[in-house]
Amino acid sequence: MPYKRDVYERAVYKEPAPIRDHENPFQSMVERFDVAAEILELDPGFYEYLVTPARIHITAVPVVMDSGRVKVFEGYRVIHNDILGPSKGGIRYAPDVNLDEVKALAAWMTWKCAVVNVPFGGAKGGVVCNPSDMSPGELERLTRRYAANLIDVFGPEKDIPAPDMNTNAQIMAWILDTYSMHTRHTSNAVVTGKPIMLGGSHGRHEATGRGVMTVTLAAMDKIGMRPTDARVAVQGFGNVGSIAAKLLQEQGCRIVAVSDVSGGYYNEDGLDVIAMMEYANANKRSLDGYQKAQKISNDELLTLEVDVLVPAAKEDQITRHNADQINAKIIAEGANGPTTPIADQMLKEKGVLVVPDILANAGGVTVSYFEWVQDRQGYFWTLDRVNRRLDRMMRTAFDTVYSASQKYDVTLRIGAYVLAVDKVAQALSMRGIYA
Ligand code: NAD
Repeated sequence: MPYKRDVYERAVYKEPAPIRDHENPFQSMVERFDVAAEILELDPGFYEYLVTPARIHITAVPVVMDSGRVKVFEGYRVIHNDILGPSKGGIRYAPDVNLDEVKALAAWMTWKCAVVNVPFGGAKGGVVCNPSDMSPGELERLTRRYAANLIDVFGPEKDIPAPDMNTNAQIMAWILDTYSMHTRHTSNAVVTGKPIMLGGSHGRHEATGRGVMTVTLAAMDKIGMRPTDARVAVQGFGNVGSIAAKLLQEQGCRIVAVSDVSGGYYNEDGLDVIAMMEYANANKRSLDGYQKAQKISNDELLTLEVDVLVPAAKEDQITRHNADQINAKIIAEGANGPTTPIADQMLKEKGVLVVPDILANAGGVTVSYFEWVQDRQGYFWTLDRVNRRLDRMMRTAFDTVYSASQKYDVTLRIGAYVLAVDKVAQALSMRGIYA
């Protein structure tokens, strides 16, 4: 058996790092992993295996720009592990994307899939570029060359990309086509989050926000809060934030504040989320200039007197600098890594119930899994079927994580890590180490 206290070696665990408020996302992941490993008394060899990315690909992506000049971009694909199944994870295009971030996001995918019981491993990709400065033609050539460079990595049974920051269904369609041209047959299960016409799934676009809504209601239930009594603030008004806000409003919650990069928007009587979505859609996805609310800052939004806070923008938003001013009773993490480890500790002391990212935003990968299943069956489900199955899996995952947190007397985040690490470690133990 893998878990033997007598082989536990501090040297291999490298002594739990002192809690810092650092912004290195891989370190943040390792700090939580360390706590779970200690609770599970994970064998040191397994510890090393599970914390280390299985494969890291760094690839130069040359693109002929519209000017005729060749520009070389740096691309990454990190397979954190594929013990439970093919690896799964998005591709992010951003000027500041870096290998540490991609490694952390790949590991989070491993734990997220394990938490929601989806038979995938974890991966993530990135290309250092600024898509807002690139033409559609340049973006297409970048995407196709990145996919061609990684043609032996991707595959419906190997590694399955999806959209992430600044990538979308169109980019998935280009990857699908590039991969299919190389393999000489149309292979729509090689990516998820693609257009419905090419084998995408109903409900995928809304899936992450919907999952956030489901676990938020489950958390309210646990502390006896009624949705109709709940005042909610949502940071980020993109795919996850806007849909979570809309669905929570449909459940009776009062959405008193939302924000995006242009700042925060507050209305004590409740915002009209649908009107704000329409406004943003007509305004290059920005709420800038929206009039029917009081303007507040993003910092103010996070510390409002609300019952529920949904950070759904980016990493490192709740830190040592503002955790003690948080007033929400529940935080449902739509974004990946919005809370730093030290803020976690501070929130725990304040008694805030934090539904962690690897559970709260797992609705997206769950419906990606449904999409992959449908592609492989060649049989497509109705929206109603997708949503019912998603709701069921998210609710089950919440209940399982909640039970683990009670059993080990830890936060929901550590409960989720314990469940996920234990599951992957058990699968590794059954498979054994190939020599
Ligand atoms: P998006 O690009 O659609 O939206 C991001 C939103 O955050 C935008 O409204 C943007 O203006 C806002 N924002 C950026 N910086 C901000 C700041 N400092 N303060 C307030 N708002 C800010 O992205 P998304 O797909 O909604 O993803 C949001 C987060 O959720 C990311 O952390 C992402 O990794 C995570 N996530 C997304 C999915 C998915 O399916 N889209 C799945 C899992 C996790």
